[in-house]
Amino acid sequence: MKIAMIGTGYVGLVSGVCFSDFGHKVVCVDKDPRKIEMLERGEVPIYEPGLDVLMHKNVEAGRLSFTLDLKTAIDGADAVFIAVGTPTRRGDGHADLTYVMAAAEEIAKAATGYMVVVTKSTVPVGTNRKVKEVISAAVPGLDFDVASNPEFLREGAAIDDFMKPDRVVVGVESDRAKQVMADIYRPLYLRDFPIVTTDLESAEMIKYAANAFLATKITFINEIAALCEKVGADVKSVSKGMGMDGRIGNKFLHAGPGYGGSCFPKDTMALARIGQEHAAPISIVETVIKVNEDVKRRMIDKLADLCDGGFNGQTVAVLGVTFKPNTDDMRDAPSLTIVPALVGGGAKVRVVDPQGRREGEHLLPGVTWEEDPYAAAKGADLLVILTEWNEFRALDLSRLAGSMAQAKLADLRNIYAASDAAAAGFTAYESIGRVGLT
Ligand code: NAD
Repeated sequence: MKIAMIGTGYVGLVSGVCFSDFGHKVVCVDKDPRKIEMLERGEVPIYEPGLDVLMHKNVEAGRLSFTLDLKTAIDGADAVFIAVGTPTRRGDGHADLTYVMAAAEEIAKAATGYMVVVTKSTVPVGTNRKVKEVISAAVPGLDFDVASNPEFLREGAAIDDFMKPDRVVVGVESDRAKQVMADIYRPLYLRDFPIVTTDLESAEMIKYAANAFLATKITFINEIAALCEKVGADVKSVSKGMGMDGRIGNKFLHAGPGYGGSCFPKDTMALARIGQEHAAPISIVETVIKVNEDVKRRMIDKLADLCDGGFNGQTVAVLGVTFKPNTDDMRDAPSLTIVPALVGGGAKVRVVDPQGRREGEHLLPGVTWEEDPYAAAKGADLLVILTEWNEFRALDLSRLAGSMAQAKLADLRNIYAASDAAAAGFTAYESIGRVGLT
């Protein structure tokens, strides 16, 4: 199969590379010349474990290439995937479809023969039909089909998620499009990974419903954690005991500083707006959005309590600013709420992150970047673990405590235990949903 992938971000690049690894011929297009220049030099513009090796392999095999020119990319393509961003629209919380519709129009103008236009971006129900209208209006009589193929990969584990998915969702309207999609995903189908084939609207809805459900699960355990702190229960034991119930499952039950990232915040917001517009409000999701903001604010209060009420004059070392480990993605990360509160409150903030510095330098003004946790903690009054990178999971706590001006630890990912912190010489330790040490 010949595939064109529009957008070389986290989803487009991973999907393009993986499709080429399936044996298809893939051309990836982006309108950002910086990204295409990097890709042509063999450099990966994002941090995603394993992506560089797989990309080089398929470029060398002649199955994968990159271009700024959409017309070249879609020439003779069986399918054109739209994998551009759908950020929150300013002002109303809706998904901004500007990039999707612009891509659809460009595809229409460059099309030469039958192709399936596949939307991989996360888009509100009804968008695939609008894509169809836009293409038909731009070039009346063009022979094409549309398909919805939402993506479920997680940054940091994206290749594995793409190659070994829990399921692939395909929304189609014609047998011809269904066949093209089946041919594209044949390697997964042959290995018994389930393909859910449905109508366009259901495919679009599956993606939003799945993300909103996961955001709800995280938020649920975060609220239980707050209650655990009041009643003296341990949220780690609570989630373990809950998660062993097969009906509940143990994933997405880790209490933390609130969900963030490029998907959950914007997708919950978009789903809430879709519900309101159709007079079918999804109150549970509206509440989740509000509670998640409360959770992030509670983190600031927790840190302020550890600093005896305020941040003025305090030196705070923050470990991790990306929204989760193994990615350089900072979009809607909890650090973007918490770090400015520290800086704004008058703290001197030192930051360490294995991959977050490139983005973080623009997004977190007023902080000092350090190379490692020990340099960051030296002489500090408070150490905050904000992202659970592996690098922060086996720290020499005694060395850290011994080098700090005040040995206080806020472990917002529940990596350590109060007893570890006490044994290492910390005088204060707070985590999420567990009895602390003060
Ligand atoms: P991104 O911002 O990383 O990448 C989008 C890319 O599209 C950019 O490089 C941009 O330059 C390019 N682009 C925009 N318009 C273009 C055009 N007309 N022609 C060529 N290139 C164009 O976005 P992302 O994180 O990859 O997300 C893409 C979509 O996938 C979103 O709808 C998102 O919700 C969804 N999604 C993301 C994830 C994730 O983990 N990031 C997971 C599942 C689904």
